[in-house]
Amino acid sequence: MTDQPYVAPPTVGDRVPTTGVKEWAFGAWALLDGFFRKMTIVDREKDGVELLMNRLRRLESAIIGGTSEASARAAFIDWVNDNDGGGWAYYLTKKAEADRQEAEAQAKTRHERIIASAREEAVSLRNKHPGGKGVAVGTVIVGLADTITGKTYTGTSGAYTYADKRHAVMEELLVGVPQVEDWPVNACAEVDAMNKLLIARKITKKSEIKAETLYFHAETWNSTSGKWQARSACKNCDVWLKKIGAGRV
Ligand SMILES: [Zn+2]
Repeated sequence: MTDQPYVAPPTVGDRVPTTGVKEWAFGAWALLDGFFRKMTIVDREKDGVELLMNRLRRLESAIIGGTSEASARAAFIDWVNDNDGGGWAYYLTKKAEADRQEAEAQAKTRHERIIASAREEAVSLRNKHPGGKGVAVGTVIVGLADTITGKTYTGTSGAYTYADKRHAVMEELLVGVPQVEDWPVNACAEVDAMNKLLIARKITKKSEIKAETLYFHAETWNSTSGKWQARSACKNCDVWLKKIGAGRV
């Protein structure tokens, strides 16, 4: 048995900022107010919350009235330490919930923005080739978004077969993939983009690729209409995309 080092629980002062106290007080009051409005007489925290809300209001108005931020803050902290009726613990719980929800919402937004960048990358590259396939790009252009790193890669059909380096994991992923389309399985733009990602991330084995972290968007040149258009699937690639849990957008 080793003794765990003693970690002091956060004090009231740890939770009240030293600057922007007025704004903090208003924010804390507003957070509590949202819950207080729904409270009834059966809520045992109601009185404590009301007391704390009044005290937050007083903190705010003291600063507006000219009391220095430091002394208004100190008076508030003293009040919580000496007179709090349970409102402070209630506030800390609700604040932690709100912070967690905010962090989740931000992570979700970031995730969605990265996924959307797969299409943006493909469209951006496609727009550089308004005349369609040529020396630089093949019939298909792909954008690949990696939600782990936030980075994007592009690929074009035919490029992998001429690539300087064909990553061993890419070769492994293609093993056993049946050719169900008119083109070889290694000719795809998805393969080119994935190869670049494997090299950039220095992946050494397939298991390092996490499911639901990679998203592909493909644009294909329609020679009849003379336009690029989004393409939903390539049945060759869908086999190895499924192996690594990658998606299409
Ligand atoms: Zn393909």
